Formats: sequence, structure tokens, C-alpha cells
Amino acid sequence: MNRHAIRILILDDEPFMLKLLARMLANLGYASVSTCDNGRAALELIDSPDDSPNLILLDLNMPEMDGLEFVRHLVDRHYNGSLILVSGEDERMQEAAEKLASAYKVTVLGHLHKPASPEVLAKMIGKWTTPSQNKPRAEKKVYAEDEVRAAIANGELINYYQPKVRTATGQVMGVEALVRWRHPRNGMVFPDQFIGVAEANGLIDDLTRVVLANALDQSRLWQEAGLMLQVAVNLSMDNLISLDFADMVAALAAKAGVPPQTMELEVTESRLMEDLRIPLEILTRLRLKRFRLSIDDFGTGNSSLVQLRDLPFDELKIDQSFVRGAHSNEKLQAIFDSSLGLAKQLGMEVVAEGVEDRADWDFVRNRGCAIAQGYFIAKPMPAADLPAWIQSWEKDFLASLPLQNI
Ligand code: C2E
Ligand code: MG
Ligand code: MG
Repeated sequence: MNRHAIRILILDDEPFMLKLLARMLANLGYASVSTCDNGRAALELIDSPDDSPNLILLDLNMPEMDGLEFVRHLVDRHYNGSLILVSGEDERMQEAAEKLASAYKVTVLGHLHKPASPEVLAKMIGKWTTPSQNKPRAEKKVYAEDEVRAAIANGELINYYQPKVRTATGQVMGVEALVRWRHPRNGMVFPDQFIGVAEANGLIDDLTRVVLANALDQSRLWQEAGLMLQVAVNLSMDNLISLDFADMVAALAAKAGVPPQTMELEVTESRLMEDLRIPLEILTRLRLKRFRLSIDDFGTGNSSLVQLRDLPFDELKIDQSFVRGAHSNEKLQAIFDSSLGLAKQLGMEVVAEGVEDRADWDFVRNRGCAIAQGYFIAKPMPAADLPAWIQSWEKDFLASLPLQNI
């Protein structure tokens, strides 16, 4: 990182803090540092073409214009530099402020508690990149109805599979099918670019039928090869509005020769359903036919607890946003632990989603969450890659165990 490329502004109403931080930055080798004790003066500086800072150390609690109001002015100006929040507010307040600023697409490098230590400050500034690199990513293309319809009809949708493993033994117990669109020109297209379109245009039943049929065929192939895996498929709430959906699923499984007990249906409630009676009936009938039911993204959405009360779920998937980084965040830990406890008390299997690194993995294991899924274990992959991946995962897992545990 080029220290001379960074022009830092410290905005804080306390003169002592301004001096302290300015001294710290000078000691760290930052030459271009200015200070302001109120938001109005800071905005003037930002508006001046030459001296405009590209990194702001911002105090949240200031008399006239507070830190959040200041952020709003930055948004109005399409400010493309970075922010570090420095304040005496507690962790939850700081996190909330950071989330808010990020929601407005302002780049936030992190937050610091006063008094900040030079080491932590240096590490955070280390994440700074030149503003041209933080331009908001181009909006993702969302496809038109006709294109999605054609993709379904032309067999351009394929399933990737992401492993789910037991944290105690490392055993790969199942996979989740995640749909991908192998677009003839645009490469691999992800579900957030076409699931919503399919839902909005009455195409979701056709899409689900394709994903399910592919997953069932694949499951059958794995079973024939001696690979016993539970295979999960995601359903949309819009699949649960016509009563013959349960029969369609059962007929597909029977045709493929796959026992329903080895299939799992993941449901997430992404929008409020006015009338839950029909989804309830469909899911209960699927459960009667011995398909396993899983509540996906638990803790987000609209009425997770109502769903838990009313539906016979076998599995609960704790949403990624409560898993990733929970090892160092007490609030996430509280939510994680209570979701885990809830699932255990209700006799359900629990899966932690979004296990991204070693620290996440150690955390979910130590907390007693039986199953984990996430990039740390494996990213979603084509079916053909799975057998070799399982072999190498199991070998590495055994090698990582302390000798006395084997
Ligand atoms: P989901 O069912 O909660 O699936 C998990 C998503 O998180 C997947 O994204 C997966 O690739 C991603 N993921 C897994 N582990 C990690 C991790 O460690 N870190 C991070 N950052 N991400 C991780 P994907 O494949 O893009 O799918 C997104 C969502 O689209 C799915 O969320 C699901 O709700 C929906 N979806 C996918 N396939 C289908 C489908 O066939 N039908 C329906 N109706 N929805 C689908
Ligand atoms: Mg899912
Ligand atoms: Mg999920």
C-alpha cells in the first residue's frame, strides 16, 4: 500500500482525540492528515477538489451533526473513499452504524473503540484501497422472462452440489443441490440472477422439476456406486401453492427409484405468505411420504418461529449471517447458541451454513453443532468432482486428528 496516496481526515469533536489520532498517524508514517471538529467543516473539505480526503476517521457521537448524519451527506455526494468509525459507543452500536454505512454502499474498513491502539489502527488502514477500486460493483444483470423460460426448456440448468459434513467425524453425510445456469454466452450464471424471475413469472415449478429430476438421477447414480448421501433440493414458497406439488415430487422420486428418506427439501420463507394453510398442507403431505424437511436460512425471513411451530421439520439450517465470524462476536454467538438449543430441544438435526474458515469451523464444532457446510469444507461443485473430493477430504480430515483420537 502506498502511504502517500492516502489523504486522511479525522473528524471528532474532542480536540484531545484529534491530537492523539493525528500523532498516531504521523508515527505510522502517514503524511497527509487533516482534522476537523465538526461535520460542516469536514464537508467543505470534502467538496474542495484538491484536498478531498479518501479515508475518514469518523467519530459517531458529535454535538451538531452526528456521525450518521454525516454519513448521509457522504452518500448524497457519492463519496467513494473509505471510512473507519472511531467512537466510544458500545460494540452493538458500532456494528449497527457500520452496517448502515455499508448498506448505503460506503466502504467501511472497520470500527475502533476509543482509545484506539496504533496497532489496530494500522491494521485497519492496511485494508484501504484506492477509491477507483471501491466503486460499487456493476449491478448484476437480471434476465428476462423469455430467456429464463428458454434456459429451462433447453436444458441449460445444471446442479452443483455442496457437501455437508459431520463435525465430529468428518463424514460427508450429504450434499445440497444448487442450481446454476450454464449460459451459452455469459458463462456460469448464479441463482440470484434468475430464481426471482422464475418465481415472478410462473416458471418456478418447471425450474424446480428440472433441478429435482437432475438431483434424483444423480442420487441414484451415487447410490449405485455405493455412495450413500442425503441429497437436498431447495424449494421456493411459490412451489407450495398448488396442491398437486407433493404428488409431482413423489412421482419423480418413484420414477428415479430413489427412496424419499434420502431426499431432503429445504424451504425458506423469503416473503410473507398471507395464507399458510396450503404450504402447510403440501409440506405435511411430503413429510408423510417420508421426504425430509429442512428449514433453510433460519433466523432470517419473516416467521421462522411460526414455521417451526407448525411444520414437522427434520433439520434446521442456521443462516450464514449468524455463523460467519461468530467466533469473535458475542451477539452472533448468542443467536447461534439459541438457534442450536432450539433445534436440539425440538429433536432436529442442525446445520451451520457459511463455515468459511478454520476459526468458523472450530467454533461450530466446539459449540456442538453436528453438521457444517461452507467454503472451508468445499464450494459447490459439479457432481463429477464429488467422489475425488470426498476421498481427499476424508484423508486430510483423518490426518488432522490428534493421534490419541483415532
Ligand atoms: P441457500 O439455499 O441458503 O444456499 C447457500 C448459498 O450460500 C449458496 O449460494 C452457496 O454457494 C453459498 N455458500 C455456501 N457456503 C458458503 C460460504 O462459506 N460462504 C459464502 N459466502 N457463501 C456460501 P448460491 O448457490 O448462489 O445460492 C443462493 C440461493 O439461491 C440459495 O441459498 C437458495 O436459496 C437459492 N437456490 C439455489 N438453487 C436453488 C433451486 O434449485 N431452487 C430454488 N428455489 N432456489 C435455489
Ligand atoms: Mg439451501
Ligand atoms: Mg441457506
